[in-house]
Parts: sequence; C-alpha cells; structure tokens
Amino acid sequence: MSDATPAAPERNDFIRQIVREDLASGKHTAIRTRFPPEPNGYLHIGHAKAICLDFGIAQEFGGRCNLRFDDTNPAREHPEYVQAIQDDVRWLGYEWAELRHASDYFEIFYLAAEKLIRQGDAYVCDLTAEQVREYRGTLTEPGRNSPYRERSPEESLDLFRRMRAGEFPDGARTLRAKIDMASGNINMRDPALYRIKHVPHQNTGDAWCIYPMYDIAHALGDAVEGITHSLCTLEFEDHRPLYDWCVDKVDLAGNPELMAPLVAKGLPNTAAKPRQIEFSRLNLNYLVMSKRKLLAMVEDKLVDGWDDPRMPTLQGIRRRGCTPSALRLLVERIGVSKQNSLIDYSVLEGCIREDLDAVAPRRMGVIEPLKLVLTNLPEGHSESLEFPNHPKDDALGTRQVPFSREVWIERDDFAEVPPKGFKRLIPGGEVRLRGIGIVRCDEVIKQGEDVIELRCTLDPETRPGGNAVDRKVKGTIHWVCANQGVAAEIRLYDRLFTVPDPDNDADGKTYRDYLNPDSRRVVRGYVEPAAAQAEPETRFQFERTGYFVTERHDHRAEAPVFNRIATLRDTWAK
Ligand code: ATP
Ligand code: MG
Repeated sequence: MSDATPAAPERNDFIRQIVREDLASGKHTAIRTRFPPEPNGYLHIGHAKAICLDFGIAQEFGGRCNLRFDDTNPAREHPEYVQAIQDDVRWLGYEWAELRHASDYFEIFYLAAEKLIRQGDAYVCDLTAEQVREYRGTLTEPGRNSPYRERSPEESLDLFRRMRAGEFPDGARTLRAKIDMASGNINMRDPALYRIKHVPHQNTGDAWCIYPMYDIAHALGDAVEGITHSLCTLEFEDHRPLYDWCVDKVDLAGNPELMAPLVAKGLPNTAAKPRQIEFSRLNLNYLVMSKRKLLAMVEDKLVDGWDDPRMPTLQGIRRRGCTPSALRLLVERIGVSKQNSLIDYSVLEGCIREDLDAVAPRRMGVIEPLKLVLTNLPEGHSESLEFPNHPKDDALGTRQVPFSREVWIERDDFAEVPPKGFKRLIPGGEVRLRGIGIVRCDEVIKQGEDVIELRCTLDPETRPGGNAVDRKVKGTIHWVCANQGVAAEIRLYDRLFTVPDPDNDADGKTYRDYLNPDSRRVVRGYVEPAAAQAEPETRFQFERTGYFVTERHDHRAEAPVFNRIATLRDTWAK
C-alpha cells in the first residue's frame, strides 16, 4: 500500500506497470515519450487523454516528453493547427522537452528508405492505386505479388531517386516494403512506404515531392528520438508488426550514418529502439470526436468555429470555461486500459463541478430578472455589504456587494400560483434574500398577464445583527442590486447533440440530424459588480445557478458576457 493521499493515488495502470518494470530491470534508465499529433485540425478531449499519458508518465518517472508533429500528409496540414496544438498542450499544463516535426527527419527517412531498397526490403512499384487495391486481397484471401516486386535493388534505387527528383507525376509510383502478400495482417502485405505528392509542405516548403507514409514515419520518428514507450490508441495495434519491422529493418541505433542529417544540425544522436503500447481511446457520448467531422461542422457553420464553447475541441471546452485540472481529473478517473468504452458526458461535467466547487468564488447573478421593491426602505437607500467569496474556504476572502431598495430576483423564484412543494416566494409569502433578511410579498404588479414587479417589505429584525436573525423560512434566494448591478449577456450552453450516440449512422441519419436546437440560449441578466469587473476567463459559481466564466473573447467590464460552464446538478439524468 502506498501512503499517497486519495487525491493523488499512485497510478498503477498497465502502462505504468510496464514503465516501472523497465526501469527496475535496467532495460531503460530514462523514460522518453512523445505526443505525436497530426496538425490537420484542432485537438479534442480525446487527445487530452493521450497528452496526460504521454506527458504525465514522463513527468512521474523523471523522463522527457517531446511534442512531435506528425506532419507527413502536407495536403491537410496547416500552421494554424501547429500553433493551436502548442497552445492546447501548454493550457493543459504540460511543457515539452523538445518540439519536433516528423518532417525534421525527412532526410533520415529518405536514407533509411534507400537502405531498405539496398537490403532488398523495399521496391519501387508502378501499380496504380486501384491495382494495388486489387492485388492486396481481402481478410479471407491472400494478396498477389506485384509484378514489380522482383525489380532489382539497383533499378528501384534509380527510380526512387528519380521519384525524389520530381520526374514522375503524383500516384505514378510508390515505394513499397517487401514483406508478405499472404500475411494474415493486411498491413504487412507490402505496404507503401513513400508516395509522390507534388504538394508544398507547411514545414519543408518545396523541398520534397515524395512523402513518407504514416507507418514508417511514425516508427522511425520514435526511433530517431529514442522514445522508450510509444503510446498510441488501440487502432494501431494491427500496425505494430509493421512498426517493429520498420524499426528493426532500418536499425537507426546500429547505423549512425543514417543519423548524420540530425547530427549535422548540432543535435545529439539519440537513436534507440522504441516499443509501441496501445491503450483505449477516450470517447464521450453526446459528442462526436473525430477531427474530420469537427472540421465539417466548422466548415458547414453548424457551430461558430473551432472554439465554439459547445465543441469538444480543447479550444472550445476552454472557452466554455472548463479548467485544465478538470480534464486531467477526467483522464485520471476513466483510467487506462485496453478496453474501449463510451464515457458518459456527465462524468466530464462531474469533474468540472468537483474541480470548480472548491476553487470558484461565489457570486450572484440573475438570469431571468424580475424586479422586487422593498417598500419599507427609503428611496435612495444604498448599502455595501461584505460577503464571503466561498462558504467553506475563508482563504478566498470577501467582496463588497451593493444593496438598495430595488433588487432583481430570478423570475422562477416567484410563483403566483405555486406548484406543490414550492418553497420560494408567493403572494403573501416570505423568503430570505441571501445575506439580507426575510422579505414578504405584499403586492404583485402586473401588466396584462405578465408579472412585472413585486412589492415587498423587509423584516428589519431578520437582518444580520437583528433580534430575529435566526427566524426560519423555507427558502433562500439570490438577488442582484437593481441600482448597481450590471446588465450582462449570459450564454447558456448545453449539450450539442440530443442523443448519446450521434455518430451512429442508423436509419440513414447522421450526427447532423441530432443537433440540439437548445444547445445555446442567449439571455440578458444582471450580475453583481464584482462579477462584471473580472478579467476574461475568470470562473465563478453563480449561487444556485451554475458555474460561469467570463467570456474569453467578448467579455468587458462595462458589457459583461458570461458562458455557462455547467449547471450545479446533472439536469440530464433521468
Ligand atoms: P481523430 O481520429 O479524432 O481525427 P487522430 O487520431 O487522427 O484523431 P492524431 O493527431 O493522429 O489524431 O492523434 C495524436 C495522438 O492522440 C495519437 O497518439 C492518438 O492515438 C491520440 N488520440 C487521438 N484521439 C484520441 C482519443 N479519442 N483518445 C485517446 N487518444 C487519442
Ligand atoms: Mg491520426
């Protein structure tokens, strides 16, 4: 048993067990990991799991974690994403040992490919993409050898060099690994290692017109950096034999001349044999979490951009007000395994509430205002009251809250005809105004059917210091001073989809058919001055209402804008 506190239990998942064993056995003396996003979109909540694992494990074991952009597919990649990914990793609370790009190693990969050709482990193939598919076979039938498979290394080498020189159009030829067209694992049926693409690259510009495929680039990228534990999601399990094949056949560690392009840049030769370990993806219901679909939603304007607060992107969830520590808590809570599962969205909300409850200062904000006039206070009455910022943590200090003869209360906190069990204000009834005292509703002013004002009296003996300060009433409600409260735009966000599995394309429907029309409601309310004056991205609990954040881009003290992060309770649980 460890004596760690429950808040920081010793993590002991299967990956950490492997790492511990490798350190104990002396297989490794230092742990190296990497987080390898492809810069073809914004990171999402799923990536947070990979980031927390890659960086977290390096941190826990005194190792190093690189951020490596897996930028081998230039057509879909963009510097905008490269920047956003760095921001996101830092926002989550991690710093990389080194920032690298797979494209930094293109010259090494190229030398490695030539080595494979010379060894007879790779050949240039002239089949078209369609023919390659035909030759590949199926899950139940073996593939057929390409007619170019027995090409001599000399001829392949010559063609490969001419591919690099730009002599052939896109798709005319590929470099393929020579493995086994009858393998039960289709990934091993002479997979492509290089393709021709006359497309400029966001990092290397026009330097290349051939680009390595994911499998060789990923395996060799890990080997170049001396990654000890290469963590990735389960869909790469079937690629592991190819990963190992690339690492072993090229053997960067045993062939320092291949590392010369890196050493020439003044970097140390860190080549070593990596080990790939797969873990299950993080999936949340009520969301879609694939970069491709998120991109489509942005392009089709189903949401307001990548950082729309309803998006599961890290930029979106950040703007929504989620804290990095809540996301880290989520990752911790769901654990690490090889079992794919769909996590309930409420688990994330629970982590947000748990994280914010302890640290978010309390404020009062009224979302759907109704005016309440205290007729027994003089016109122009004005007070400034000291309120604690947190009911359980004095360290969060206090603030001044203005109070006057007129206040806003929540329209819902009054009912002319109360439903059964209603504990708040009714005609002739009483309720406590938080921090003030007990008020009685004497008169209801209406305009047509609409209640527009409540005229009440405040029992002075129930005010702090009064003789009846302990007098009991059933309800306590929050309020905002009508005089000095600040009008605010309040954006009430909810789940983006109405069904748990919007991605399940049943009945010819797609996730587009399940968008929640009420996922964003914008209302005008009032907040106390201490909430309005906060900097952007300040989180509060509005008492009795929910967790809110001052809007990252749009908030200003004189025109405050708040996003609802989460309600106080799970309103979706049946
Ligand atoms: P998507 O499938 O959403 O488009 P991706 O897998 O293509 O994402 P990459 O940029 O390739 O995105 O991912 C970078 C790293 O993050 C990879 O190691 C990948 O395994 C991991 N990752 C991606 N999605 C998830 C997820 N949902 N849960 C955990 N890890 C993930
Ligand atoms: Mg990917």
